[in-house]
Formats: sequence, C-alpha cells, structure tokens
Amino acid sequence: MSKLGYFSPMDKSTKFTGVNSIKFYRQFQDDAVCLEYLASIKWPDGTYVCKKCGHTKYCKGKKSFSRRCIKCRYDESPTAGTMFDKCKFSLLIAFHIVFKISTKKKGMSSLELSHEFELRQPTCWEFKWKVQQAMKSSKQHPLTCEVHVDEILIGGPEEQKRGRSKGDKRLVVVALEKVKGGVGRAYAQIIEAASAEEFAPFFASYISKKAKVITDEWLGYLPLKKVYKKLKQIPSEDGKNFPDLHIHIMNLKGWLRGIHHHCSKERLQGYLDEYHYRYNRRNNMDTIFHNLIVKMVTNDPKRLKSIQK
Ligand SMILES: [Zn+2]
Repeated sequence: MSKLGYFSPMDKSTKFTGVNSIKFYRQFQDDAVCLEYLASIKWPDGTYVCKKCGHTKYCKGKKSFSRRCIKCRYDESPTAGTMFDKCKFSLLIAFHIVFKISTKKKGMSSLELSHEFELRQPTCWEFKWKVQQAMKSSKQHPLTCEVHVDEILIGGPEEQKRGRSKGDKRLVVVALEKVKGGVGRAYAQIIEAASAEEFAPFFASYISKKAKVITDEWLGYLPLKKVYKKLKQIPSEDGKNFPDLHIHIMNLKGWLRGIHHHCSKERLQGYLDEYHYRYNRRNNMDTIFHNLIVKMVTNDPKRLKSIQK
C-alpha cells in the first residue's frame, strides 16, 4: 500500500504471470486484492484523468481504491466503465472465472462455470459473453509468411460446401499461418457468402498483404489477387493439400461440439474469438490472464442486448 493509502503500483511481484492455479489462489484471496489489481491497471502511477472534467488531481474516494476528482468531486471506482462494472457476483469470482477461461486448454462452458462457482448458468453465460468480447482480436497483428485459407460450415449436421443452401449453419472463413517447423496463429470469422466481397474485409483485418496466401481453386478468392500479389490457388484434393488447416478446423469443430453444445448462431463469433485467443497465445501463456484483465479494464463495458441463447 502506498503512503496515500490508495494502492501500490503494479510491479513484477504483483503482476500475475503464468498458469499455476495454486499461485493464483494465493494471490487472489478476496475482493480487495482484485479491486487493487484493477485500480493499478486503470490508473498506472500518475495517469489519473477525471472522466467527467478531465482534471488530473484527485483525493481518496468513498470506497476502497476509488478516486475522487478534487475539482468536480466525481468519485470513480476501479470497476466503473470496465467490463467488471455491475457484475452480478463478487469480483473475486470474476477473477477466478477469467483465470479459468484464459488458462485452461479448452476454457470452460457456462454450465461448468455455474457448477464450479455455484452460480446460475445464465449469469455465467452473460459474464462469459463479456469475456469473449475482450478476447476479440485487436487486428493489429496480421498473419504473415505462408497463410492457408478455407471456408467451412459450422453448426448442424456435416457440411456441404459453398453455393448450396446453408440452412441453419453459418459459413466461417478460417486462415492459418504456416511458420518454420509448424503452424503459427489463426483467425476465423463468420461470413455471409463465399464471395470476394465477404472475404476482402477478413483478409484486410487478419492477413498481411505481403503474405503468401494459398487457397483452393474456388473462384471467390480470385479477385483478391489484385491486393494479395502472392496469392496462389491449388487443388484442394478434399483437404489433402491443406493438412494443417484441416486439422485446425477439426479441432475447432470438436471443441465447439464437445463443451459448447448450445452455441447459437448469434454466439458463434464469440466462441471463434475465444478459441483463437487461447490458440494464438498457446506458446506464450505467461501473460494470458493479465492481458485479458487489461483488455476487460480498458474496453468499454458491453451490454447484452438482443442476443438470446
Ligand atoms: Zn472532475
């Protein structure tokens, strides 16, 4: 605790690293510790700016770790304006849920969370949806090197391809990066049709123009050659020419089927984001929890609106 009594600045000893659950349980034992953790992310030393009037001087607020603007008297808690705002359970439980979702290889379904933390399943479902919003890619790190791209249908019985009726299923485009000695990162996004118009924003967000993109011979990819000069089309041979991409797709589908039976069409993108958030950090788990908390503090809180299960 600093001499002002607000909180200690985040340092190596307080920033949580790794995936060790015993270490995690030791560090996060009550709401106050979690609140202090959020405060130190929200206001790293010397960076206070009043949300209402922009003033930079403050005094201690009413509640623990809150800050009150000395000009307009606005009192702000560490959770205000973050995804932890108006959470229906304790901050301690919220931290434990974020830890589980980020560090367990397959994450946890809302049903599993409801059993483990003795909460109502819809409550877990709602919170998990917020976490998934924080797991969305920043789109700041497009895939480079060799990138394999294909589309798949997800949901319902096994897939048909492309032009045919989708029925209840959603069409998803998937890109996987090949790196020396194996596979790198991957991204997936729901699209409305396997057309160049639908592929283009996905490519622009997730694939570097310098990448060597490889697709099958579907005509929808052809116009992208204007931007992606190295794009090459090869026969798919039922996926045999894209073995790594097809293993990735099988694993993704298996995960969706296995622990998320009730994934609705509306929720699918959230699950795709969740899966790839962990997948893209699988070799760099040290900061996976901390960085997710940071995203949940700095992203605007999301509200569930019309999306129903
Ligand atoms: Zn103010």
